[in-house]
Amino acid sequence: MTEIEKRQDRSPVPSAFDYAPAPESREIVTLEDRYGLFIGGEWVEPKSGEYEATISPATEEPLAEVAYAGPEDVGVAVDSAREAFENGWSDIAPGERAKYLYRIARILQERSREFAVLESLDGGKPIRESRDVDLPLSAAHFFYYAGWADKLEYAFPNRNPKPLGVAGQIIPWNFPLLMLSWKIAPALAAGNTVVLKPAESTPLTALLFCDVVRQAELPPGVVNIVTGDGRAGAELVKHPGVDKVAFTGSTDVGKEIQRAVAGTGKKLTLELGGKAANIIFDDAPLDQAVEGIINGIYFNQGHVCCAGSRLLVQESIYEQVIAKLKRRMGTLRVGDPLDKNTDVGAINSREQLEKIKELVAAGEEEGAEIFQPPCRLPEKGWWFAPTVFTNVAQSYRIAQEEIFGPVLSVLTFRTPDEAIEKANNTPYGLSAGVWTEKGSRILSMAQRLRAGVIWANTYNRFDPASPFGGYKESGFGREGGRHGLEPYMRFE
Ligand code: NDP
Repeated sequence: MTEIEKRQDRSPVPSAFDYAPAPESREIVTLEDRYGLFIGGEWVEPKSGEYEATISPATEEPLAEVAYAGPEDVGVAVDSAREAFENGWSDIAPGERAKYLYRIARILQERSREFAVLESLDGGKPIRESRDVDLPLSAAHFFYYAGWADKLEYAFPNRNPKPLGVAGQIIPWNFPLLMLSWKIAPALAAGNTVVLKPAESTPLTALLFCDVVRQAELPPGVVNIVTGDGRAGAELVKHPGVDKVAFTGSTDVGKEIQRAVAGTGKKLTLELGGKAANIIFDDAPLDQAVEGIINGIYFNQGHVCCAGSRLLVQESIYEQVIAKLKRRMGTLRVGDPLDKNTDVGAINSREQLEKIKELVAAGEEEGAEIFQPPCRLPEKGWWFAPTVFTNVAQSYRIAQEEIFGPVLSVLTFRTPDEAIEKANNTPYGLSAGVWTEKGSRILSMAQRLRAGVIWANTYNRFDPASPFGGYKESGFGREGGRHGLEPYMRFE
């Protein structure tokens, strides 16, 4: 264990309770030594001949070897999706499509413990989160879109909705199964077939999902999973057989993808980064707000595009909020993702840890004041202690750039106008939080904040019926809700 002692003030921080370890058993997960590509309902060897190990970020242990698809493999997967689209899937009765989606949802529920353990093993997130958030929400997305599959005429009255064809979908490593569900459920409900590429550091739940696809007896080729790195993603984007590209990930790659599809007629949705403001007014219920701040930035180690990574506190309550926040940070337990008591798990990859460290060093150099509660980090694996920066100027990199780690930057404001100005002073526009007891203030703030999702007196709440997406450099298009069907349809 490495001792972290980086407190730069003397505020009393309670030490975390000592809990006996409560590890979730790994027994429920059976890992293959090696995984191929899932194309046309079968496991196939990659024509590229390439495999790479996927590694547990908490222990650095290799978990399994995973195929790296080359251009030819991506081509075979797209052809298989096209064939499935043309030979049945787009024509079957919508009520039948709904049944498959319901089946997938039910199987995800039945196998949720297995999926949750695998998600935490491969990605490093605490089992409490994969068990209580990722899995229930993944199943809920399939249930929700199953409900729409035979009601598309009602969703888009008088517009004669039709499926597009083959969707190429690329997902990141922060919510591997949940992002897969956000992508696959609406695509299938609308009558499309898919080729999905998971992130290279977290492919395992997508590969286990192939087992669910088979168990649900989904026709071969409706869902194809090609693993690999960014090159496979780029091949999928440019493949002429793809009618629609859906991407979640970094803004830089999103821009590259937008350039690649320009002029091709492919439909595109981009869900990119964020630097959300979580705004606390002086009439907010402070203890609840502190829970919201914690959940906003330390949930999933801060690997969350809509994380509340900029805290805006009204000046009159600044001291009080910061004291409460530091106390609460001292109770967070960092460590083994499979331990049911863990609040903050492992950083997803060595590269991401380096990026977090670089931005935190920049924050210290630029003059912000850092606070980390005393905590013990395991020797092996990739870890970063929950961190808060005070004395932050808007121009600092830690106030401008997406850190994508457990690092919060605090700014203050005096008036609602100043809060709006500071909150909107970012190239992003994905989400925001507002904490106040006044409903009228919530509504006026929500109208003026340039963010796709605005939470009031809560944070990081998700529901399949609620659309999610951004403005500006956070991307365009919406996922979730009826809005989430539209990018997968054409209208006659
Ligand atoms: P990327 O945007 O690189 O990765 C997202 C997905 O896109 C992965 O499946 C990746 O493959 C794939 N990909 C990479 N390059 C290309 C390409 N040229 N064409 C098509 N697909 C591609 O994110 P990173 O993992 O590199 O993370 C970097 C930063 O991005 C993070 O620090 C964070 O700030 C931000 N991010 C934002 C997310 C969000 O939800 N908004 C999610 C993840 C990251 P592979 O991983 O296999 O290389």
